[in-house]
Amino acid sequence: MNKATRKTVIAGNWKMNMTPDAASAFMKELAPMVAGKDECDIVLCVPAVDIAAAVEAAKGTNIKIGAQNVHFKASGAYTGELSAEMLTAAGVKYVVIGHSERRQYFGETDQTVNLRTLAAVNAGLTAIVCVGETLEQRELGYTETLLKFQTKMALTNVTKDQLKNIIVAYEPVWAIGTGVTATADQADEGNGYVRAAIAEMFGADVAETVTVQYGGSMNDANAAELLSKVNVDGGLIGGASLKTDKFTAIVDAAQ
Ligand code: PEP
Repeated sequence: MNKATRKTVIAGNWKMNMTPDAASAFMKELAPMVAGKDECDIVLCVPAVDIAAAVEAAKGTNIKIGAQNVHFKASGAYTGELSAEMLTAAGVKYVVIGHSERRQYFGETDQTVNLRTLAAVNAGLTAIVCVGETLEQRELGYTETLLKFQTKMALTNVTKDQLKNIIVAYEPVWAIGTGVTATADQADEGNGYVRAAIAEMFGADVAETVTVQYGGSMNDANAAELLSKVNVDGGLIGGASLKTDKFTAIVDAAQ
């Protein structure tokens, strides 16, 4: 395994937090704190109403802006949804797809995750595709089966070339927003299952090039240990991405 073949990506997921004004203020504070820290890509996935403010504030910085969802149709009667074309036109480069909160509260399925992933990569967005087991599934011994299934479903019909625009985030559901972090070994193992699934679909060489993040209560105190693991190529960070100092510390851990 060779971590050097993969890009480390530290991505914040603000979830349903921050107004446009708060987003601008946050970005102005963060930009000088992470300036020149180019050993990882730095992304903030913001609420839709914050995209314009965040994209404007990110100009001339090393921070890229992401969205938190994308619809799979190009246009039409889908009230409340945003197309991939709308996001790219707004300056968005990344999009989170299949977050467990969307699977849990908004009826997201493995099939819609796949359709959204295809729509994103076809439009040139980088998709951050989330997979992860519940505590019950882990305790029943289904973690590997589940992670491989979710990963393969999400990547169905994705081409080898499009895989360059895919990041998979292993996010154990029991570790998201709970303050309970997977141990570094558990994170490495989960990410390894994701990579093995990609290898089964696309070959081992290709799988070695795909960025697989860990997400689930990653913070300034645990980031270095998690990121030291061979299969952990970055983080998807919720709570700790809402504080500039904590998020910067995670970026520092990735340098
Ligand atoms: C997330 O939102 O993807 C996440 C991992 O949240 P938290 O870091 O708060 O657990």
